[in-house]
Formats: sequence, structure tokens, C-alpha cells
Amino acid sequence: MTTTRELFNVRTPPDALSALLRALPASAESEQIETADAVDRVLAEDVRSPSDLPTFRRSTMDGFAVRSGDTFGATEGLPAYLEVVDEVLMGHAPTRSLMTGECARIATGGMLPDGADAVLMVEQTQQVGASTIEVLRAVAPGENVVQVGEDVRIGDPMLPRGHVLRPQDVGGLVALGVTRVRAARRLRVGIVSGGDELVEPHCEPAAGQIRDINSYTLAALIRRDGHLACVLGIFPDTFDVLQAVARRALADNDVVILSAGSSVSTRDMTSQVVSSLGEPGVLVHGVSLKPGKPTILGVCAGKPVFGLPGNPVSCMVTYDLFVSPTLAQLCGASQVPRRGVQARLTRNVASATGREDYVQVRLERRSDGGFDAVPVFGKSNLIFTLIRSDGMLKVPLDASGLNAGANVEVVLF
Ligand code: AMP
Ligand code: MG
Repeated sequence: MTTTRELFNVRTPPDALSALLRALPASAESEQIETADAVDRVLAEDVRSPSDLPTFRRSTMDGFAVRSGDTFGATEGLPAYLEVVDEVLMGHAPTRSLMTGECARIATGGMLPDGADAVLMVEQTQQVGASTIEVLRAVAPGENVVQVGEDVRIGDPMLPRGHVLRPQDVGGLVALGVTRVRAARRLRVGIVSGGDELVEPHCEPAAGQIRDINSYTLAALIRRDGHLACVLGIFPDTFDVLQAVARRALADNDVVILSAGSSVSTRDMTSQVVSSLGEPGVLVHGVSLKPGKPTILGVCAGKPVFGLPGNPVSCMVTYDLFVSPTLAQLCGASQVPRRGVQARLTRNVASATGREDYVQVRLERRSDGGFDAVPVFGKSNLIFTLIRSDGMLKVPLDASGLNAGANVEVVLF
């Protein structure tokens, strides 16, 4: 027979997380990597621009490089006339500078000749001879020109340490010839799934058995957060077996997640296992959270060890709330990679005060362009409530629920 104790000393989610983060070393190991492969990686150095960008004055239009003074007063009724003395070839410096009354054909991105200070759009000109154009409009100095260093100046701070690199950051770095950057080392996260009822996905479950879900959703979440997942497999709810595999996982990884068995029945071994792996062991057992109350946060041998509830919905919610920010801190990231959108709740959602609730929602686009957040209810343990959802919303600790019509932030999956 299994006996069940209550979870005492339940902490609020923010308290629980900060208790864990405080107990972890802040040192991130870093490595030099190719900028081309650096998307989603965390910068481990402040990057300053090694040069001006652009390094030469560039046209932003197809047209003619001109001395703006030559165009002053020009109108369709009273055009100015300029002689086309050159064509600037893309990828080449102009062959000559412009004197008064001269212009040079130029394409978008072409280099302005000396003497020129503006570009006249081709639409504002008319060819009137083999090498003469009519100027139908005046241009101001600097018009349609990107100046040297206008994008970024040499020595300017470009990207700070802790920044998670986005595709445009990769582009900006390579534009400046920064082909290698120092990034936090990816973390290795070991995943151990416990449960006598579990079988591998390729197996046909016998009566009473289910396929392991959490090893795979966790591995996918870890990879999406930019880290390396190491799936150790499924193990019975037997202390010695779980302890042995958890010890191996801890030795080989930076972080360990034990899925399931995190509650307090006699079949639940996770808390004992975490306690046995090293000091200080379990820091938090029980969080005022739904789903996800039986969550264990621990530190063993300087590494975080998580005991996440086996219910696949709880497992994903607690990964987001606790594992993701811990991985971010360990590699010095200044933000956790999750996107939120504002939406309007379509129906009342009940909650108990003193507990944070996470509700799966589907987003529906309204005719006014905003989003409706439609709660997707389902009994816990239903993976398909997650599949039918676009994200989740938080009902705060002190709220006894949210009313239909409330503006809410939905964190996207
Ligand atoms: P537990 O956290 O061990 O109390 O498990 C809670 C529920 O989650 C039970 O119904 C388990 O069968 C289920 N569960 C545990 N581990 C997994 C897993 N790896 N994949 C899918 N469901 C699981
Ligand atoms: Mg279990």
C-alpha cells in the first residue's frame, strides 16, 4: 500500500526559482565558435565594432550621384542640366571625382564619387542626350546616401555579453568581418525518466503501460533552448536503479532532470535520489503551482538537479518555469527565450489564491486584428491539451481567477 504525506513548505514559483539560482555558481564556460553557427548562442564577450559600417558612402537608390548644389532650384518646369561623366560599377570605386555640372550613374549600394554629396533618383531625371540628363527636382545634401559609419561606428558597443544571438546579429557580425565569437558553452542536460509503467516509443505498450513522452518533450525543449540533451532512457521506480543512473547522469552532464516520481508517495523516489547525490541536495520540494505542484529543485555537486512531475503537461510547464531560466543563468544569458503575445480571455478561469495557475490556451485572430485566448481544458495527463494549444497564460498567485474579457499575456510554446 502506498502512503501519501502532504507536501509541506510549498514555495511560490518565484521563491523556488530564486532559491535554486542563488545556490548555483554564476560561472559560464565559454568557447570560440564560428559566427555562422552562432544563432541562439549566448555571447560570452562584449562585441565592439572593429570598423565603420559602411566603410564608404553608399547610394540608397538607383539614379545619379550629384553635387546637390547643382540641383538647387531645379523643377519639372525649370530643370537643371548635368553631364553624365561616369558610371559607378558595383563593387568598384568610382574612377573619377565630380566637378560642377557633372554627375555619375549609380546603382543602389554603389560608392559615391568624391565631389558628389547626394543621389538623384532615376525617376526624377530625364535623359536628353547621349550624356546629358535633365534634373526635375532638387536634392538636399546627403539625400539618398548612407554616410560612412552611419550603420555603426568603429569602437561602438555592438552586442553585449549575455545577448542571445539572433539571425540579424549573425548578419551584423559577419558584415564587420567578425567571423568568430566567444559564446557560452552549450550545456549538456541528462534526462532520466522513471516509472514502472513506461515503455520505449517503438514498443507496443501492454495493458497498464504507456509510452515515454517526457524524455522526448524535454529533449526537444532543451534543444530549442540551444543546449544538448542526453536521453538516458526509462527506469523502474526502484531507488537503487534510479540512484545509479542519476549518479551517472550527474557525472556526465551539467544539469540533470529526473522525470516523474517527484511527489511524496512511497513509490516516489526522486526526492530521496536527489538527496543522495550530494550536498546540499533538495532545496525545494513542492511549489504553489498548478499544474506542477510536486516539483523538486536541488543542487548536487554544484550542478542543478530537477525532479519534474511525470504528467506531461506539468512536466512542460515546470521545464519552462524552472529549467529554462536556470539554463539561461548558467550560460550567462540576459534573457530567457520565450515570446509572449497579448490576448483577450474568452471565458472565466477559476484558480485558488496563493497558487499560480497555468492555463493552456488556443489563440484565435479576431476581426479587429487582436487575439482571443480560448482556454483548452483537459484533465491533467492529456498531452493533446498541449497539442491543441498555442501557449499558456498565468493566473497570478494572488488572483482567485481571471474574468472573461481580461487582457492576458500568453507565452507561446
Ligand atoms: P508521477 O509524477 O510519477 O506521479 O507520474 C504522474 C503521471 O505521469 C502518471 O500518470 C505517469 O504515468 C505519467 N508519466 C510519468 N512519466 C511519464 C513519461 N515519461 N511520459 C509520459 N507520462 C509519464
Ligand atoms: Mg510515477
